[in-house]
Parts: sequence; C-alpha cells; structure tokens
Amino acid sequence: MIIFDLACEHEHRFEGWFHSSQDFEKQLESGMLSCPQCSSPSLRKVPSVVSIASSRTEQRTESSEEESPSRAITPPASATQMIGLYRQLTQAILAISEDVGTSFAEEARRIHYQESPERPIRGQATSKECEELGEEGIAVMQIPMIKEEDLN
Ligand SMILES: [Zn+2]
Repeated sequence: MIIFDLACEHEHRFEGWFHSSQDFEKQLESGMLSCPQCSSPSLRKVPSVVSIASSRTEQRTESSEEESPSRAITPPASATQMIGLYRQLTQAILAISEDVGTSFAEEARRIHYQESPERPIRGQATSKECEELGEEGIAVMQIPMIKEEDLN
C-alpha cells in the first residue's frame, strides 16, 4: 500500500491510497480518480522530500481485476489533527522500515529486481532519483520527515 499526495488542476490537495504506482496510473488513466473537492479528473502527484519503498504489492496488481476502487481521502478537519496523524504515520514508517541512508535509490532498485530481500526501506533520494525509480515502476512514497525531537 502506498500513499500519494495528489493535487488537481485547481491545487486542491488530497491523499490517495493505492496498491502500487501502477495501480495509481491505471486508475488515473481510466478516469476513476477525481478531486474530492471539485471532481476534476486532472490530477498529478505532488512530490516532497524523503522516500520509502517496497515492491511487496507489485506482483499482485498485474493479474487482479477486482481491485477496490480508489480511496481518496480528504485532509482532516484541523491542522492539529493533521499533525497528529502525520506523526503517527511517520512513527509507523520509522518503526517498520530499515534506514538505508543515501543508498536508498540503489537499494530500492535491488529490492525491485529481487536482488535484495523484500522489505520497507527509507532513506534520502534526490527528486531526480525518485523520478527515475518511478519510471522503472518502483513504488516510492515521498514524505517530508519530522525530526525525532519534534515527535515527542
Ligand atoms: Zn479540485
């Protein structure tokens, strides 16, 4: 499961949850995705800073046709709520993923091509590296990281 920050042509931001980046592309092309605020189908991914990747769901999406429809969710009501949720997400990611530092792009590729054991990883990648990973069909989620001290 990966989460993309999406924006429509009117800059309405929301999160979309997908099985993989292919799943996202597929739903976008078939017009199943639309902005929850203005129903615009013209959406794009909004990039941010740090990335987490896993190829875990890649295989399954090829063959399955009964995938559940997209679950686009609107941002929570208040900023406080938003920050709370965001901290939970960040903590969950920190808890389950292995920090591979600056070799993120390299390691994400190894996992994708099954040269490394499958697992969630996190690390730093340039936006160019993330772009290249995306072009290779590697599911990468980009998140702005909160510093450890801000989490407590
Ligand atoms: Zn919109």
